Amino acid sequence: MSEIQNAEPVCPYCGFVFDAMPSRRRSCPSCKNAVYRKKRPTDRTLRLVTEQQANEIEKEWAKITEDKELKEFDEWMSTIQTSNSHHEKMTAYHQLALYFWRKGDEFRGQVIECL
Ligand SMILES: [Zn+2]
Repeated sequence: MSEIQNAEPVCPYCGFVFDAMPSRRRSCPSCKNAVYRKKRPTDRTLRLVTEQQANEIEKEWAKITEDKELKEFDEWMSTIQTSNSHHEKMTAYHQLALYFWRKGDEFRGQVIECL
């Protein structure tokens, strides 16, 4: 894993240069717009972005998390259906239970149907 780098701390709206990378959301001292510090999933660099870009980057992260969860879900289901190991099956059940616990009540019925 490579280190996460900071990009130049430049306001994405007006080009104002901050003294240092802000540690969280800031208002630009020059143009007063809200400036967000974000890292895209495909990138190892923290950048200052606009509110709209920040929302898009949040969606990219949510998509990645969702894809990862779906892939894990499929793996656990397949373990439960195909594994000969009691231990592996119990682990998969446990992971599925956690998954549905995180997802909330409306998903709890589904896992019972699946099993
Ligand atoms: Zn600015």
